[in-house]
Amino acid sequence: MDATVMYKITYGLYIIGAKKGDRINAQIANTVVQISNDPITVAISINKQNLTHDYILSGGYFTVSILDQNAPLSLIGQFGFKSGRETDKFTGVNYSTTANGLPYITEHSLAYMEAKVIDRLDAGTHTIFLGQVTAAENLKAGEPMTYAYYRQIKKGGTPPAAPTYQGTQKEVKAERAEKADQKMDKYVCKLCGYVYDPEKGDPDNNIAPGTPFADLPDDWVCPVCGVGKDQFEKES
Ligand code: FE
Repeated sequence: MDATVMYKITYGLYIIGAKKGDRINAQIANTVVQISNDPITVAISINKQNLTHDYILSGGYFTVSILDQNAPLSLIGQFGFKSGRETDKFTGVNYSTTANGLPYITEHSLAYMEAKVIDRLDAGTHTIFLGQVTAAENLKAGEPMTYAYYRQIKKGGTPPAAPTYQGTQKEVKAERAEKADQKMDKYVCKLCGYVYDPEKGDPDNNIAPGTPFADLPDDWVCPVCGVGKDQFEKES
């Protein structure tokens, strides 16, 4: 079986918000699917280990913020590679809350919806939540981020708890190495799989295209997961 076949399934990229008591949390997810139209229902798949899973179970509601294609890796990293158990994920992020008090992102988000959980399915490592949409609003015009765009253009990695994660970052590296024909070496984040490509630089963090990895400032960190330069290795 070739598990890379799964990479050919198309997805978007979303931030799922939830609330438990007066606490809020949110996480990145690529699995959001509209299931039916009358009433409108959507399904999401959430890893049972995630704090958001606990909040959706106990709060009975979730939100979906639909990310804009220009959303920076730092935003995705904040919600995708850090746990709400250790950090307040909303620090420095513009967000608002629905009438029910659930958080949604207002920065780099094209639209959001809120849904009430009406059913759930145990899928082993994940739970599939079926939600009836209770609120929805467009925030701005733009192109929605797709998972393919995030992986190929933005060079983002996949958190180990994501439904699409396939274990070894080696396969991901091999896939990228095939495409690499530049002279300047690329460097891979050992934690999240983000690839620093000198040709593109890191414009979100003021690193100009054409900056070799060695010339990055000492305080530069992985734009996805936030680790330092010492956690990178040359792409083989
Ligand atoms: Fe990283």
